[in-house]
Amino acid sequence: MTDRERPEVVDLFIIGGGINGCGIARDAMGRGLTVTLAEQGDLAQATSSASTKLFHGGLRYLEYFEFRLVREALEERETLLAAMPHISWPMRFVLPYHADMRFESDTPTSRLLGLVMPWMKGRRPAWLIRLGLFLYDTLGGRKILPATRTLDLTQDPAGRPLNPKFRKAYEYSDCWVEDSRLVALSARDAADRGAQIHTRTLVVSADRADGLWRVTTEGAEGRQVHLARALVNAGGPWVEDVIRNVARINSTEGVRLVRGSHIVTRKLYDHDRCYFFQGEDGRIIFAIPYEQDFTLIGTTDKDHKDAPKEARCTDEERDYLCAFASKYFAKPVTAADVVWTYSGVRPLYNDGAKSATAATRDYVLSLDQNGAPLLNVFGGKITTHRRLAESALEKLAPFFPQAKGNWTARVPLPGGDFPHDGVAALRAGLRARYAFLTDYWAARLVRAYGTQAAEMLGDARTASDLGQDFGATLTAREVDWLVAREFARGAEDIVWRRSKLGLRMTAEQIAALEVYMAGAQAAGAQAPAAE
Ligand SMILES: Cc1cc2nc3c(=O)[nH]c(=O)nc-3n(C[C@H](O)[C@H](O)[C@H](O)COP(=O)(O)OP(=O)(O)OC[C@H]3O[C@@H](n4cnc5c(N)ncnc54)[C@H](O)[C@@H]3O)c2cc1C
Repeated sequence: MTDRERPEVVDLFIIGGGINGCGIARDAMGRGLTVTLAEQGDLAQATSSASTKLFHGGLRYLEYFEFRLVREALEERETLLAAMPHISWPMRFVLPYHADMRFESDTPTSRLLGLVMPWMKGRRPAWLIRLGLFLYDTLGGRKILPATRTLDLTQDPAGRPLNPKFRKAYEYSDCWVEDSRLVALSARDAADRGAQIHTRTLVVSADRADGLWRVTTEGAEGRQVHLARALVNAGGPWVEDVIRNVARINSTEGVRLVRGSHIVTRKLYDHDRCYFFQGEDGRIIFAIPYEQDFTLIGTTDKDHKDAPKEARCTDEERDYLCAFASKYFAKPVTAADVVWTYSGVRPLYNDGAKSATAATRDYVLSLDQNGAPLLNVFGGKITTHRRLAESALEKLAPFFPQAKGNWTARVPLPGGDFPHDGVAALRAGLRARYAFLTDYWAARLVRAYGTQAAEMLGDARTASDLGQDFGATLTAREVDWLVAREFARGAEDIVWRRSKLGLRMTAEQIAALEVYMAGAQAAGAQAPAAE
């Protein structure tokens, strides 16, 4: 096969369509740079759809004295809420307290406490948790999110589903985010600003030549060569593979893969708050109301030795999460309650930490300047993706003096141009205009598309105006929108990443969707404008 060389030279070629690649692409486009991004599969197919989906400071990272990381993430929560009030929202977290709760043994805090108060024998005292929450409340400057309070679980409805031995809890704020929708909307926004986004396109090699990068890709358009002034490696769990096998550079920098698995059960309780459970092994897990009718429980923390794409929730991890949650809920959680599981690997910068839980959650950006610049992205969080993108562009600024300054803190994502507390009004407006929508349907569309939900529904007067009905309120109109606007190419892209309708649709319905999408693509009817 001969390689087709694209004539244009772009400023940045980005490898990886997770949150970091798409966040950097969007930011760079707004600064006036030109960008091409290649993702080997679907957007957010790897870690960025497998997170716990929290915009959070990371309460437990305080025990590792990761103050910079926690402060940056805390500050970021409200900036992100304002920019994407459709796909993110505030949540209250209930942290039941019991005297048996223990630290993981090798956190700096547990070592310090072991020195000054050896009689605590690794227990997390209540005053220390309260102090941690005080720091959490004050470090990041809150305007929207309410402060911590103490709960009497014998009176508060949050105590009802729990084992009665838990009598006291603290309740604090963090936020939810639809992780894979955040990635798709960031890519959409980058494309609207002129970025070339190529999904299902593998980067096979990248070489420096004549002061530029020559990047070879394989995708639907065959083998292509792209020229770029700088290369950004946002390969997530593949970051090291890209350095060694794609760019073929010898490097001492490595990535440590830590697997985190989640289980999803039918709804375990009837209120809208989350639980933060502390285990006797020093770890913590969350139980979170999920997709209206379900509960999400996770995560585990296991070193992952296999290929990144082999991340699966093992039976052992499922049972661990069930047993952990059962220590708190009055009614045990069993494997039979689990309706779905997912798993992803954290691509952490290898700093030689002993345990998986202790490895730094901070991000590291390393710039290789032996010729045309290469920026490698290690680690990061969904929460800090915007700040990470700003730091990445700052590192690259000397090579692009024409680039404009920071801008993403003030500009909403597509569909997010409404107030952070405006969801109910938007939903009511949608129901008034489209009388055929049920409550659930309207709520789902507002949470997915925000102010663009009406544009997607267009002039429909009845549900049948929206074309083929695939079940669970998914219609051809929405599928076409996701193909044209959000780079969806197969049924999985839609039912597990642009939405979570896979939890509600049958295998037959998903198969019918696959047939529809294959047909539409074969007809070439829906080529997206931006690709
Ligand atoms: C279990 C778990 C829970 C988490 N929970 C949270 C949370 O609640 N809040 C939070 O803020 N953060 C959380 N995180 C962290 C967060 O999810 C990650 O930091 C983030 O998703 C990493 O994004 P990324 O873009 O670097 O990687 P990815 O999303 O993995 O993207 C990298 C992409 O690069 C592509 N790629 C690699 N090589 C090539 C190539 N050669 N050619 C083309 N494409 C390539 C891959 O296909 C992949 O899609 C969690 C992580 C895990 C694992």
